[in-house]
This record gives sequence, structure tokens and C-alpha cells, in this order.
Amino acid sequence: MGLPVEPSFRQSVDLIFSRAAQLIDLSPGLKEKIRVCNATYTVRFGVRLDGEICTFTGYRAIHSEHMEPVKGGIRYALAVNQDEVEALAALMSYKCALVEVPFGGSKGGLRIDPRKYAEHQLEQITRRFAYELIKRDLINPSQNVPAPDMGTSEREMAWIADQYRRMHTTDIHAEACVTGKPLHMGGIHGRTEATGRGIFYALQEFFRHPEDVARAGLDGGLAGKRIIVQGLGNVGYHAAKFLSEEGGARIIGIIERDGAILAEGEREGLDVEAVAAHLRETGGVKGAPGGRFVRDGLATLEAECDILIPAAIEGVINLTNADRIRAPLIVEAANGPITAGADEILRSRGKVIIPDLFANAGGVIVSYFEWVKNLSRIRFGRLQRRQEEARHALLVAELQRIISEAGLATGLSDDFVRRYLKGADELELVRSGLDDTMRGTYQAMRDLWHGRGDVPDLRMAAYIIAIERIALSYRSKGL
Ligand code: GLU
Repeated sequence: MGLPVEPSFRQSVDLIFSRAAQLIDLSPGLKEKIRVCNATYTVRFGVRLDGEICTFTGYRAIHSEHMEPVKGGIRYALAVNQDEVEALAALMSYKCALVEVPFGGSKGGLRIDPRKYAEHQLEQITRRFAYELIKRDLINPSQNVPAPDMGTSEREMAWIADQYRRMHTTDIHAEACVTGKPLHMGGIHGRTEATGRGIFYALQEFFRHPEDVARAGLDGGLAGKRIIVQGLGNVGYHAAKFLSEEGGARIIGIIERDGAILAEGEREGLDVEAVAAHLRETGGVKGAPGGRFVRDGLATLEAECDILIPAAIEGVINLTNADRIRAPLIVEAANGPITAGADEILRSRGKVIIPDLFANAGGVIVSYFEWVKNLSRIRFGRLQRRQEEARHALLVAELQRIISEAGLATGLSDDFVRRYLKGADELELVRSGLDDTMRGTYQAMRDLWHGRGDVPDLRMAAYIIAIERIALSYRSKGL
């Protein structure tokens, strides 16, 4: 017997879309319009590296332009292909609609192993790829705004922003042509941590609803829960960091390319910072402190834990392992880590899945804040922070006067006064906006999940909300 046949990533996203579309009263024509990817641009370009001309293949897929600009990261990986960018672009459309970020969906990719090139070579390649996209308005502050994704970071975004500026010297909105930039180039506090932080807020909100927690066969809060994270890249690292440092959860396993590291004593959990430092130094988790190394990383996805967080690539939970996954709660930190077939198996086994559309939306939510900041050309909090502090100081002074006139033995604690007086800076405002969006979105999803008998899980709820919103915007355009 051969291996079970799995549909491609794009087909998998389409299958999930169709499942959700069946639960929505929309004309078949409009459903089809929403589902299809509007356009995909493929570019092959040459770059002279060490005297040799090397040819690279890149893509930018535009899934839905019901709102513009369209938004989505640029991925650097050898596995990049048209099917993948189209699937990821579709996920971006649905994700933005779900979390009420006013963008359409797009995604880009370059077929390259970024670890094989020196920094100056990557800069040359990135600038050339950006040039190809910019000259066709596939990077443009009002039409198409990329961001980091797998294999790219603020470094690549800085090159892209600079390339755009060189080609549009008089565009006052040039800074807004890409998000996820370094702070000194118009970036925003809290963008790098945003996706991981969003996962933390998503789980915090989940655990505020005992009924949902019980559906996963768990009880209590986030504190003390045993978590396995797959992928300690930007998303996995920040999720693991906040979940353990601020949420009190225990990271009992981390899966990376070379294998997995499992906490020696489950009571303690791994020291995420120490494992991340080891990974940076050696490129793997083998020999990382505080844990036992297991070579078969993928088998660790099946290990016992309370929460499994796949934060690497698509399709890791599929028809070959879905029936062996033991975690009762799975949080999709990556895009599409569970295939459509695996999704059905997991649901029939009673697993609760916090879907990618919602779970990893933190990145694009904070990208939206960065884009708004770039257009308004002012840092969040710059106008109101001191005024807010002055008003708080007034209140504290008045309370202290009343306390002392009343001769009360107790007063406001120094810690309270210090914390209350402090006006919010940009990072706090960004976190507050992110937390608010994650909470509100989760509540909308659970209302649908519990309120309608025909909505089987959070993923279907997420898709229904997203599709209905996109449909509304197409309808008001007269489609
Ligand atoms: N690449 C991220 C994602 O998949 C962020 C996209 C963005 O900020 O535009 O959601």
C-alpha cells in the first residue's frame, strides 16, 4: 500500500474554503470569485555573483483585491513555488478579513536557500527582486505591501524600502511600501515579536472560556500547561518566550530541523532563551542545555503534551500522522500546518484547533499599525503620552490630598503610583491594539462556533466570518 495521496497546499486551502462556503448563503458565482487567486506574477532574473550569472525565480501572487493595498509576506525558501504562494495569498485575504485589517491578500516568494549566500549577495538578490516587483507596482504603498515571512526579516525589508525610495524619490508615502522594517527606517515597536505575541494573546483568550477549554478536555488556565513548539524561528521563539515568561506555561519540547529537545523534568520546562542561543550558535538543538535530544523531530509532534504549536511550515500534520497526534489542543502558528485531510481526522478525534487565520494574525495586525504610522508620519503616543501622564498626576495628587486630610493610616502604594503615572509608549499601544484585536476576533469566532449548530469548529467559524466580509465588500462594489 502506498502513502495516502494528499492534495497540494492550494487545493487544501480551497477544500477548506469550499467546506465553509457550503455553510454560507452566497451565489455560486460570488463564491468562485472570492476563492480564485486573481493573478500571479512569476519573474526570473539574473544576478552576477562572484563573476557568475545566477538565475533566480520569484513570485508575487495577488489573491483578492477587494481592498487595497493587498498585503502579505515575502518568503525565501527552496520549496517556494506557485502553488504555495497562491495558497498563502489566499490565507492572507481570509486572515485580513477575519481580524478586520483593511487589506486584500497577497504573498511573495523567492526560490532560494538564504543560508547559502553572504549578506552582500543576499542584498544584491533582494534589491533585484524588489526592482522587478516595484517597476510593476507589485510593491507600492497603495497597492501591494510586503512584509517578512519565512527566511526574511527586517534586514530584507530595509533593502526593499530603500530600493523603492530610489525608484520613487518624490513619493511622500514611500516608507509605507513595506512593513516589518527596522525601527530606524520607519518600523514600529513590537512588530518583530508580533506574531508570537499574538499567539500568546490568542491562548490567553482561549483560557478565559472554560467551556472551550473543556471541549479540548483540559481545565484550568494557561499557567502550568505543557507545550511543544515546532520551529524556533521568529514566530516559535516569541510564542514560546511569552507563553513561558508571562503565561507561566512550560515548554516541554522544541522541534527543529536537526531533531527535538525534550525537557528532562517536565515540571520545569525548557529554558527558551538558552535553547534559542544554542540554536543561533550551532544551527540546531542537539546539545542544547536542559534537555534530552531526540533525532526524530517529527515523531515529537506526536508526543504527549497539553498544547502543540506547529510554528514552522505547512503540511506537517497530515494524513500520515494525524491519527497519532496526542495533544488535545493545537495552535496553528505557521500558515497551513494541518492539511485539509488531517483537519477532518483531528476534528473527528475531538481535538480543538486554533486556526492559522486567527492564531498567526498578529504579524499582519501590527503590520497594519506600522503602515498607518508610516502614512501619518508620527509615532503612536507622541501627542498624548505626556498629557495622559499630567492627567494621571492630577488624580494621584488629589487622592493623596484626600487621604492625608482624612488622616487615613494607609495610602497609595509607591508601585501603584509609579505604574499609574506612566503614559503609554508606542510598544504598549501596539500590544494593546494587538490584544484587543485578538480578543475581539476570538469572541466573534466562538459566538459562531457555539451559536450555530452547523459550525463544527473554530476554523469553519473563522472562514465563515472572513468569506462573509469579503463578499460584503465585493457586493458593495456591485459584483
Ligand atoms: N508573513 C506574515 C503572515 O503570514 C505577515 C504578513 C504581513 O505582515 O503582511 O501573516
